[in-house]
Amino acid sequence: MRAHFIDVILPIPLQKTFTYTVTEEEAGFLKKGMRVAVSFGKSKIYTAMVFNIHQVAPTLYEAKDIHQILDDKPIVNELQLKHWQWISNYYMCSLGDVFRASLPSAFLLESETIVYKNEGFTDESVLSDHEFLVFEALQHQSQLTIHQVADILGTKKVLPIINELIKKSAITIKEKIYEVYKPKLVKYVRFHADYSDDNAIESIVNSLTRAKKQRELVLAFFQLLSTKKPIKAKELLEKSNVSSAVLKTLVDKNIFETYHIKTDRIQYKGDTNELMQLNDFQDAALNQIKKSFKERDVTLLHGITSSGKTEIYVKLIHEVIESGKQVLFLLPEIALTTQIITRLQNYFGNQVSVFHSKYSMNERVEVWNNVLESKPKAQIILGARSSIFLPFSSLGLIVVDEEHETSYKQFEPSPRYNARDAAIVLSKLHNAKILLGSATPSLESYFNAQQNKYGFVELNRRFGNVQLPKIELIDIKEKHRKKLMTNHFSDRMITLITEALEEKEQVILFQNRRGFSPVVECKTCGVSPQCPNCDVSLTYHKYKTELRCHFCNYQRAMPNSCGACGSNTLDTKGFGTEQIELELKELFPNHTIGRMDLDTTRGKHGYQKIIGAFEAQEIDILVGTQMLSKGLDFGNVSLVGILNADSMLNFPDFRAFERAYQLMVQVSGRAGRSKKQGNVAIQTFNPYHQILQQVSTTNYTEMYKEQLQDRWQFHYPPYYRLIKITLKHRDYTKVDNGINWLAKALQNSFGKHVLGPSAPAVSRIRNLYIKNLVIKIPPKQSLAKTKEQLTKVKNTFEAVKDFRPIRFIIDVDAY
Ligand code: ADP
Ligand code: ZN
Ligand code: ZN
Repeated sequence: MRAHFIDVILPIPLQKTFTYTVTEEEAGFLKKGMRVAVSFGKSKIYTAMVFNIHQVAPTLYEAKDIHQILDDKPIVNELQLKHWQWISNYYMCSLGDVFRASLPSAFLLESETIVYKNEGFTDESVLSDHEFLVFEALQHQSQLTIHQVADILGTKKVLPIINELIKKSAITIKEKIYEVYKPKLVKYVRFHADYSDDNAIESIVNSLTRAKKQRELVLAFFQLLSTKKPIKAKELLEKSNVSSAVLKTLVDKNIFETYHIKTDRIQYKGDTNELMQLNDFQDAALNQIKKSFKERDVTLLHGITSSGKTEIYVKLIHEVIESGKQVLFLLPEIALTTQIITRLQNYFGNQVSVFHSKYSMNERVEVWNNVLESKPKAQIILGARSSIFLPFSSLGLIVVDEEHETSYKQFEPSPRYNARDAAIVLSKLHNAKILLGSATPSLESYFNAQQNKYGFVELNRRFGNVQLPKIELIDIKEKHRKKLMTNHFSDRMITLITEALEEKEQVILFQNRRGFSPVVECKTCGVSPQCPNCDVSLTYHKYKTELRCHFCNYQRAMPNSCGACGSNTLDTKGFGTEQIELELKELFPNHTIGRMDLDTTRGKHGYQKIIGAFEAQEIDILVGTQMLSKGLDFGNVSLVGILNADSMLNFPDFRAFERAYQLMVQVSGRAGRSKKQGNVAIQTFNPYHQILQQVSTTNYTEMYKEQLQDRWQFHYPPYYRLIKITLKHRDYTKVDNGINWLAKALQNSFGKHVLGPSAPAVSRIRNLYIKNLVIKIPPKQSLAKTKEQLTKVKNTFEAVKDFRPIRFIIDVDAY
């Protein structure tokens, strides 16, 4: 008899899969994509994913038994496993990293996972004996690791029990970043089991002749019964117009009983509407897209801001779901896009599901399962980058909205993938089409379209034929000289704001920095208070009179005197959103000012509140950071002001100019969207800068051509590819020695195409020193071979004892 084995992916950063033994029955039952519990290392238990089933014993180690099987059918399909492999190869990370990034954490229990009881859970009767034991233990101890649960139950086989408890919403697992999960329980009413036959019911009604209110409630119940739907307690009370005390009396009398049905937490309630009639330009663009899809899988839609791209997406989505296929709609940051969610739900109602890492664990599990089972409510998935990992079985279309956005790139932790690019690969696996849309496409995508690798469609007119905003550059060097500045506002900017407010129109002001003033500096000795953990000055937050580090979140009270020389001459330099808000309050005391930045939008609903208040015109002037640039659609904004364009242009990055152009055009695009032409005013010390000239005429093609020349000349994407290598360690000398060794080793293979070593602008974060190297890969050099060579060098590096503790990070397409 031959032994049976499975290779599994473990959720740890190890390159290989691991082999375990299974029985013949288990081998017959298991399929790729099912989870098993295994032990690894000394005593750790992990959730692992079956990747292969075979009969070849491993040669280097003795395979252990698995603990048990966790699924009765695969929760990940073969297309996903292929996609994982591509991500792991392309981005040079382990399959384990991809596995961990792909699944909601509730699917990845391990011995160190911490579980809590769910306070909202009350119905203990649904728990099995084992489940109850765990639940009861959590009444006495607020949290337990799975390891401890195993001790309590006296068995290692606990993951299925925990899984079941999570499914029943009795417990939840620790996730710092997510909000505490509250199950949404709706209370329903039905007859008590004693009253199931008709005679009994008649006798109830008769017995209640003298209890008028109770009788009314019972009669209302009968009326609702005819709708054949479960009867909600709330609905019943409204219909019968009696108080809940009456219902309670009837429950106490054992005539009625109440029960709960767990409803999906994210549910759309309104009606759906007809799709809009496209105008001629939109219609032409739609037809060109469809034509392009006949020849090519990827198409780029370059449509100016407010040209009505979303309505075109809607038409395509409609056709695809009619054909029974699934649609993935990718957005850069879901928190900012409640507007799009609402718009899509307006047309597609409950066929839209939203997936986002900020949602609670249970919400994510729910969406995962709905997609896995191809439920009607998961036909259209709207999500941020991590939604590319959902278990789609038949994608027909992927839309990547605002495809140029940097938030599609994950920088930390591994896998360091770009969701737009990974989505293109995903669409190929599904034989699906993919549409990239933007008013300011990334240089690479536009280049690919020009090279005929992608189809290309343009839409050059705003919907309703509203003109693009008038863009005015304000020279603040001159304004300073002529003493026409009030703090950070030029006289011209103040005039424009005043005019807009007089017309009862709204204003958006863009300032690319949060906080009050980035730097506090001593006027006597010139020293700025620094973060103790990072190599960066602390930022002053006036609202809480404290200094904060924007890299590690370190906070301290604003000191009264300089820590270096003791004088009380600390002064603020530069400016952030908070200071602008304050200045506006002085300039426009009779108007409401709002602020939107990372500090005011914490929590899942932070954005919604501010966006809602602005939409409702409760806020006249909204000050914000780049969050404001992301696809928002406000009807009454007639002026957008950019207070300091120069900070964007002086950024030390090869994409700084491209980014600055995109950001300014996108922010400008929020002006004058519905009625009349809007205004944009940009304050700058350098009004003749080529990028500002191109922004002021919205000349994308000129920006593209000029930037492309630079990229060619200086060997950057889209011509050359980049792989960035970062080393991190607490000990500066270690990092320095490591990076120098590495630079030499890589120069041996790649010569002058190795850039660095260099330290980033912030060269120490959270007490770790950081050094970088960049490998540039010329157009003709094989990417695969380059990666192979890099892996060899990395392995040699890690074999050096002194270098082993250094963190080694590889980032492919690190931009
Ligand atoms: P984009 O995504 O290109 O910035 P939107 O799709 O947000 O543009 O459209 C801009 C505005 O025009 C929105 O308020 C939208 O509702 C409206 N709009 C677009 N197309 C139509 C249409 N065919 N009929 C009616 N209104 C439309
Ligand atoms: Zn810090
Ligand atoms: Zn000082």
